[in-house]
Amino acid sequence: MPELPEVEVVRQGLERHVVGRTIGSAQVLHPRAVRRHAAGPGDFSAALTGLTVAGARRRGKYLWLPVAGRTPGAAGDGLLSPAEDALLAHLGMSGQLLLGDPGRPLSPHVRVRFTFTDSGPDLRFTDQRTFGHLAFAPGGAVLPPMIAHIAPDPLEPDFDEAAVIGRLRSRRTGVKSALLDQSLISGVGNIYADEALWRARLHWATPAASLSRAAAGRLLAAVREVLGEALAAGGTSFDRLYVNVNGESGYFGRSLAVYGREGEPCPRCGTPIRRDPFMNRSAYSCPACQPRPRRRARRAGPA
Ligand SMILES: [Zn+2]
Repeated sequence: MPELPEVEVVRQGLERHVVGRTIGSAQVLHPRAVRRHAAGPGDFSAALTGLTVAGARRRGKYLWLPVAGRTPGAAGDGLLSPAEDALLAHLGMSGQLLLGDPGRPLSPHVRVRFTFTDSGPDLRFTDQRTFGHLAFAPGGAVLPPMIAHIAPDPLEPDFDEAAVIGRLRSRRTGVKSALLDQSLISGVGNIYADEALWRARLHWATPAASLSRAAAGRLLAAVREVLGEALAAGGTSFDRLYVNVNGESGYFGRSLAVYGREGEPCPRCGTPIRRDPFMNRSAYSCPACQPRPRRRARRAGPA
């Protein structure tokens, strides 16, 4: 499942290879891929055809491409209007955005195909499990309304660290649950939550409300560090005009300290990594570096 760093790699690829190009056609090959577009596949195609991609943005695991029309009547391409609307994408479990030769045959998993008026590489939304989706977002150039409830992610420039620390320390859940809560902080999945908690030497069940302001700050710094390293490790794949966001971004396996490493030695102290069941998934931690918090009365609110 693509996590924030993989989605950011896709965003960078779109910025490099799609921004500035005008959509010649948007063919919906599987209606499920545009199920969130209430007006249906025909309307989706009609809304996007002829618009120029003006940017590539991301919040958490959502991507959106602000799109703009050109003023009619002008010679050549005309002047680009300010972008108001957007194409919104979520890759789900297995979605990919692939660029390719328009003459290349379509794989059976291509759900939506965009061609461009410059006859250059086309863009194919490929999704084997069809949990991902695309939608046209009227008025969504700055922030699509359907994702306005999602909190900024730690790599966004307007991520308000002090505010997030305050809200994190007011949560009545364990700290890992809080990290996974998209209304508090977006884009932190299971893998990166475990890795950041290990770096910050915090057990996943530590009550969020028991964290000192300094400890919460260290945890957020660890989240940013882990995401940044994963991004640096995975940031080149679009260069081959092919991105497998579902595949291994160089970060997996090589740089993970605890995730998926049950029984292997902690890279810091050598204690075997422990796996606990966590919300139908797993939480990996080092029993020595990240001791489980002792049960005690919770502090009365943030100090
Ligand atoms: Zn350890």
